[in-house]
Amino acid sequence: MAHLCRKDMGKNMKEKLTVKNHFRLVIPARSQNEAFARTAVSAFASQVDPTVEEINDIKAAVSEAVTNCIVHAYSNDDAIGTIEIVSRIMSDNSVYIRIKDKGCGIADIKQAKTPLFTTCAEGERAGLGFAVMESFMDKLTVHSGIGRGTTITMSKRLTER
Ligand code: ATP
Ligand code: MG
Repeated sequence: MAHLCRKDMGKNMKEKLTVKNHFRLVIPARSQNEAFARTAVSAFASQVDPTVEEINDIKAAVSEAVTNCIVHAYSNDDAIGTIEIVSRIMSDNSVYIRIKDKGCGIADIKQAKTPLFTTCAEGERAGLGFAVMESFMDKLTVHSGIGRGTTITMSKRLTER
């Protein structure tokens, strides 16, 4: 039976990721800021030399997450709340994005992520925002609680060229 010495075990363990670069942006949840947020994240991710398709995927995912903060998070509030965006470029060429609001929160995350589910009764929403984020990014996690806001984290590994 083959035995692994400590040195070999170390080799078999996953390489620890480090942060190569990062930024943090806090903006009011205004519709004018959706394009700004999408452009800021895509400009930041561009330093990894992504393909046009990859950058378009990131733009679409950020657009959906930020639009959700603008449209849903603070819809019952009188004052306009904020959106915090954190992005990191990791040592494995992946881009990590966290989009956080302090709004109303989501009652049922599983239901909210179901394609075509929307709480907008007027019919102007398709209920496809989470489906877009999920299909265009490698990973998506949603943390939310009623009255505690919502935090979306997404990441995508970009191809090395
Ligand atoms: P679309 O994105 O296609 O315009 P939508 O925004 O309703 O429609 P999703 O983005 O998939 O669809 O979101 C599903 C539901 O999850 C929303 O209708 C809303 O009820 C809830 N939701 C999503 N993001 C948030 C958020 N940041 N704060 C509160 N509720 C949210
Ligand atoms: Mg949406």
